[in-house]
Amino acid sequence: ESTDVAEMLDEVADRFSFQLEQRAITIDIEVVPGMKEIMLDRDRIDQVLDNLVSNAIKYTPEGGSIRIHAGLVARAHSGDQTGYSESPLLEISVQDNGIGIPKKDLSRIFERFYRVDKARSRNMGGTGLGLSIAREIVKAHGGTVHLDSELGAGTRVTFTLPYNQEEAAG
Ligand code: ATP
Ligand code: MG
Repeated sequence: ESTDVAEMLDEVADRFSFQLEQRAITIDIEVVPGMKEIMLDRDRIDQVLDNLVSNAIKYTPEGGSIRIHAGLVARAHSGDQTGYSESPLLEISVQDNGIGIPKKDLSRIFERFYRVDKARSRNMGGTGLGLSIAREIVKAHGGTVHLDSELGAGTRVTFTLPYNQEEAAG
């Protein structure tokens, strides 16, 4: 369905408003101006966003902050200038200033059931499936996802989606 990105992101924040308030975590949403509506499978992309925001909240101490940014980027492999205007990608990132992920775990973080250091995850609930499901959904939409993190500093998960979802059918 045709989706207003800013509205979609506002609604994600709304779904977590209770937890955000409870933990005194702020959320900032920034959408670059001039973005048109985008065709996407709203239920599935909401699932991705909910996974990422729930992680950001779980692994960020009280008083922390989350930033969601949405913009348009050129296709990674398009060599020419015209690639951008004809078929940009929607890029959404969810960034927190929480506990971060150790370097040694980064390569496995998208595996099913993989959780960093069971001790710190034990009280948090969850199964270790969120990120693997998020990646499957994004891939099924023809997009990519990657995660940057620094232990003790924070984590940012960035995913892209084709701006014209018709191309990614199937
Ligand atoms: P589930 O999503 O199934 O409820 P989960 O959150 O533990 O469980 P994933 O979302 O797949 O599972 O994340 C895997 C692991 O990656 C987490 O257990 C956590 O250790 C680490 N992780 C994920 N997101 C963050 C984040 N924003 N900050 C720090 N660590 C994170
Ligand atoms: Mg999770």
